[in-house]
Parts: sequence; structure tokens; C-alpha cells
Amino acid sequence: STLQDWRPFNKTRVYMSDLESALHYSLRVELSGHISISGDDLIALKKYINVLAKYFPGRPSVKSALNTVDSWLQLQKGLEIKYSDFRDVLDNTVQTSDAVLPEGVQWVGCQGSQAHFRGYPCAVWTLFHVLSVQAKEMSNPQDVLQAMRSYVSSFFGCRSCATHFESMAQESMDHVTSLSTAVLWLWSHHNRVNNRLAGELSEDPHFPKIQWPSPELCPSCHGLKKTGEHNWNQEEVLTFLRNYFSSGHILTDYLQ
Ligand code: FAD
Repeated sequence: STLQDWRPFNKTRVYMSDLESALHYSLRVELSGHISISGDDLIALKKYINVLAKYFPGRPSVKSALNTVDSWLQLQKGLEIKYSDFRDVLDNTVQTSDAVLPEGVQWVGCQGSQAHFRGYPCAVWTLFHVLSVQAKEMSNPQDVLQAMRSYVSSFFGCRSCATHFESMAQESMDHVTSLSTAVLWLWSHHNRVNNRLAGELSEDPHFPKIQWPSPELCPSCHGLKKTGEHNWNQEEVLTFLRNYFSSGHILTDYLQ
């Protein structure tokens, strides 16, 4: 099915609608495949919700829903939880507050030219880039990366993606010791994935896999070595990422 009508959007911006849709899909669809959650999966879920509660730059009602789930999870000291209990807390069936995560998905910056392209995986990357730049001064530089690592390993539906990501994480993620290198780690490894997937059938022809950001999007990010080879100006890339994924730069069009 071809998407005849694109929701008009700016290809060079981040949309809150994609981030909230990613939360909906991960917490209500992906996780719901696990009737009970225990062991490493439970640890992964706790870490994931904890970084979301700390860093998700969302609307007050969404942040409040994440905080509620985080506090509840921290109190769960048993070996396992039931997904249905988690879901009740998320959907706030007991309380009468405005804490709520909107239902359903509405992809905007992550729209694909056909239904099977982009969407959730695009929004997962976007979400973790946003979280990585939100982590400030007092944060542990490993926080966001390890939360992503264990979430992907325990729950991400694309299992071959999870295997690839885990092998990259094993190689070098533990060497990250500052918040800046955490932001750059995620960017450079996302580019490694882009490089591997360029030209594959999974690539949306309207969104070719490139080494990102393009020279048009960030001229100063690109340079040349003495040998004439391409060279990333990492300081410029860092500045660019910290602006591109910053909360003040996220567009709120199409929010439910
Ligand atoms: P995406 O790669 O999803 O990127 C989303 C948006 O982020 C882009 O539109 C762009 O605006 C921005 N962006 C692009 N590159 C960067 C960068 N380097 N740094 C910061 N922002 C950037 N698919 C497979 O077929 N095989 C796999 O092994 C695989 N592994 C994956 C592992 C993980 C952890 C994830 C989250 C996804 C994986 N996927 C894999 C899916 C794949 O990476 C894409 O998400 C999917 O093909 C959709 O691509 P996209 O065009 O929307 O761009």
C-alpha cells in the first residue's frame, strides 16, 4: 500500500509525535508479548523506564505517566512482574490524574513511503538520540546507552537487529566515560548500521541510508584529512547533535 498522502512534515526535524508513538508501541505492543517479565528482562525494563522518567522531554502528562510507572517499578522487589499489572499502572486505571500516555501511533518524521517502511525502528533511534542529549551534568554517561542496549536485547522485536546491536555494544560501549562520547557513540554506531543497510530491500527509497548528517544539513561537520579522505569534525558533530535532538528543537505538530 502506497502512502498517497504524506502528512506534511519537515525531513530535517524531530517530532514529538514520533517519540510518543514509540513509547506507545514499545510499552503497549512490544512489551505486551511478555506475559510475565523476570530476570534480565525485568532489569532491562526497570533501566529503560528509569531513563525515560529522568530524561524524556515530554508533555507534563506524559512525564507524569512515566514517573508513575518508574516509581511503581522501583517498588517491585519480587523476581517477576505481570505485564497486566504494569499495564494497569501505565494506563492509570486506578488514579484519577492527568498522567497519560496517548494511545496509538502517528508517525510524522518517521513516516515511510509505504506502510512497512520506517515507523517504529526509526522512532526508536530518534528516541535514544534525544535521551542521549538530554542527559546532563550529574548523569551517569552509561545510563542511556546501557538502557538502550538492554531494552533492545530483551524486547526489540527485530531479533537480528538486536544481535547486531549487541555485538557492537560488546566491542566498545563500556569504554564510554563521558556524556559527550555517549552522544557520539550512538551517532557513529547508527552510521555503521546505515552503512550496513544501504541499498538493502528494507531501505525506503524516499529515505536512502546515508552517513548522517549530510553536508547540506551540517556543512561544518564535514572536512578532509591531509590525505584527501573524508573526515568528521567531531566537535561540530557534537554541537549539531546537541541542537538537533534538543527538547527546544522538537516539533509538536500532530500531537493527539
Ligand atoms: P533510521 O536509521 O531509522 O534513522 C531515523 C532518523 O534518524 C533518520 O531519518 C535521520 O533523521 C536520523 N539519523 C540517521 N542516521 C543518524 C545517525 N547516525 N545519528 C543520528 N541520527 C541519525 N534494520 C535492519 O534491516 N537490520 C538491522 O540489523 C537493524 N538493526 C537495528 C538496530 C537498532 C538498535 C535499531 C533501532 C534499528 C535497526 N534496524 C535494522 C532498523 C534500521 O536501522 C532503520 O531504523 C530502519 O530501516 C528505518 O530507517 P530510516 O530510514 O527511518 O532511518
